[in-house]
Amino acid sequence: LTSGLEAAWNKLKGEETLTKENIVEPMRDIRRALLEADVSGFVSLPVVRRFVQAVSEQAVGVGLIRGVRPDQQLVKIVRDELVKLMGGEVSELVFAKSRPTVILLAGLQGVGKTTVSAKLANYLKKQGKSCMLVAGDVYRPAAIDQLVILGEQVGVPVYTAGTEVKPSQIAKQGLEEAKKKNVDVVIVDTAGRLQIDKAMMDELKDVKRVLNPTEVLLVVDAMTGQEAAALVTTFNIEIGITGAILTKLDGDSRGGAALSVKEVSGKPIKLVGRGERMEDLEPFYPDRMAGRILGMGDVLSFVEKAQEVMQQEDAEEMQKKIMSANFDFNDFLKQTRTVARMGSMSRVIGMIPGMGKITPAQVREAEKSLKIMEAMIEAMTPEEREKPELLAESPVRRKRVAQDSGKTEQQVSQLVAQLFQMRVRMKNLMGVMEGGSLPALSN
Ligand code: GDP
Ligand code: MG
Repeated sequence: LTSGLEAAWNKLKGEETLTKENIVEPMRDIRRALLEADVSGFVSLPVVRRFVQAVSEQAVGVGLIRGVRPDQQLVKIVRDELVKLMGGEVSELVFAKSRPTVILLAGLQGVGKTTVSAKLANYLKKQGKSCMLVAGDVYRPAAIDQLVILGEQVGVPVYTAGTEVKPSQIAKQGLEEAKKKNVDVVIVDTAGRLQIDKAMMDELKDVKRVLNPTEVLLVVDAMTGQEAAALVTTFNIEIGITGAILTKLDGDSRGGAALSVKEVSGKPIKLVGRGERMEDLEPFYPDRMAGRILGMGDVLSFVEKAQEVMQQEDAEEMQKKIMSANFDFNDFLKQTRTVARMGSMSRVIGMIPGMGKITPAQVREAEKSLKIMEAMIEAMTPEEREKPELLAESPVRRKRVAQDSGKTEQQVSQLVAQLFQMRVRMKNLMGVMEGGSLPALSN
């Protein structure tokens, strides 16, 4: 997807302004990019057509702004339009006026419903709400055990009634129990099937009738293929959903699924799952997702995660550094260590610009190479760390670093080259992002 969009921007390099004529080719690239890659199936042709139409109209209406390249303008228009397509703003969970708020989770098998149930309980608990979980998947005893274990892990009670009781009956009993306990929120996990079938829908309808839930959230795997748009539509028509949760965004997918949910159901994505840990649940930010889909990297989320482990000041300093041309080996070391401290590399790496798809094997490889890098940077003098040019210019210095760190001269050369590449990449990224952070474009 990214390369398709890059082609679109590139075609505008050297142009003075956006015209009806010169956006024809880039818009074709954008249309193709949206329909191809992992977005395919999530976005129907009419949706893309409407999208391209809207972007084209705005692009031609926009006047030339001094200091802004036409391709940057187009990036901003595309981004804003994507944000709009995904609902614009963050959609908060709705809570009932009187206790308890009931949240029903639905979705196909394996998408992450049970995991999300516990994550959501954990998330709400941190906001000071008392929660209770209800194990409504009666088809596999293991599903109940799984929820019980996760409930223990996050310190939230789980209501179970075994596998012999009908789901609607369990829901009813669970709700009574929640009322007795006077909890703020009761979250009901349900069974999924590999495919939509009538039995599942009927069962969910029964459960919904009994619960009268405040929220009915459809859990969607970000990796879902062609059938995603149809899936969301069917659940919405059959059960009536109030929103969706997109899971497994830490994986290879760029999250194209996000584009169609709102468009086909009129209901927003409220939360996203970014990993297997209980903490990996966040609100859904349409603007950040637009950045991710455009392949600019989820810089905002990245910085936010970094802030959790770094001092606020430190993070701001780092952000400035990353985005300036002075990014040196000290920053490099600090950044890689921060990333390491963040725990799972894989969660973060997808957010770093220029590091799109990555497999677990590549993650292990990356962790290994971080260690090697650290050794080399530690063997540099403070001056060399601040002025990488010194190493770029002097084979003698590189040789010394290689010897002191026990690495080869070639490895040292590679590291130096990498730092300069990173500067260039950051600079390019900033060019694109500046286009995106401009005040509203005037005519
Ligand atoms: P359910 O059948 O819908 O209840 O799905 P589960 O909650 O049992 O999840 C299926 C698998 O997906 C489990 O191995 C989970 O650990 C995993 N999983 C769930 N959410 C995420 C996520 O956000 N990221 C990743 N990487 N894995 C997830
Ligand atoms: Mg389950």
